[in-house]
Amino acid sequence: MIVSRLTCRALTSHLCAGRGWPRVEMTRPSSDLADFRKVFAKARHIAIITGAGVSAESGVPTFRGEGGYWRKWQAQDLATPSAFARSPSLVWEFYHYRRELMLTKNPNPAHTAIAECEARLAKQGRSVVVITQNIDELHHRAGSKHLMEIHGSLFKTRCTICGNVAANHKSPICPALEGKGAPDPKAEDARIPAEDLPRCEESGCNGLLRPHVVWFGETLDSDILTAVEQELEMCDLCLVVGTSSIVYPAAMFAPQVAARGVPVAEFNMEDTPATMNFRFHFEGPCGSTLPPALERHETEII
Ligand SMILES: [Zn+2]
Repeated sequence: MIVSRLTCRALTSHLCAGRGWPRVEMTRPSSDLADFRKVFAKARHIAIITGAGVSAESGVPTFRGEGGYWRKWQAQDLATPSAFARSPSLVWEFYHYRRELMLTKNPNPAHTAIAECEARLAKQGRSVVVITQNIDELHHRAGSKHLMEIHGSLFKTRCTICGNVAANHKSPICPALEGKGAPDPKAEDARIPAEDLPRCEESGCNGLLRPHVVWFGETLDSDILTAVEQELEMCDLCLVVGTSSIVYPAAMFAPQVAARGVPVAEFNMEDTPATMNFRFHFEGPCGSTLPPALERHETEII
């Protein structure tokens, strides 16, 4: 945790050290796809930061904002250590619902375009890394390999006793949660005893498991942050997709890259105050704007 705080400070100092930060440019970023494609053709290390907008186009709810409720709660009420301490049953019902819901959702053309681009460029000795705040594994399902899930995953668990992290795609995750988790505000809380909730399978442990996701009030994994920082230092093109560049985590990452003079392209439904700091901005659903941006360039021979 201390390392994590240091890393955050390191990122902040990078931002402050960046020449001209905050950069105020009065010209609008380009939305010229042909210009973007010239930059894309030359890029060797591409970092793609993705957020909730990409998932939203697959119909994945965030349980935040207007209308974003599960029963009478929003994510910020239940995705917290204190909510889990108070009622692990209720929090597990919420996550069980979200896991089961993902069985009905699929990657959209934005996920696919990113995964295809990574596979194609890898054959040319070029790299694509996806840095995502999404926990739904849709990038993984689309085929992305070089993936940093900075907020964890709905399909990983962590033991509250031994700390073991394990992939878990069981449906239901445990027998007691079968048929539970209905989002209806009138649904009864299942009040499942803790011993019947998901338990650690490491030998001799049997500790209570929790979702391996970063909850409100928790810090990001310091190893992942360090790895993200290395990728951002190395990238020569950065895409910010489906996330407002003023909202964490893109706010933390993309300006750092832009301050190095590296082109940043934003793909979003609307302008953000950070838009003016970037070289490119493409407005609209990323499932429409991203595939033509990332498709094979005529200069690619493989
Ligand atoms: Zn354990």
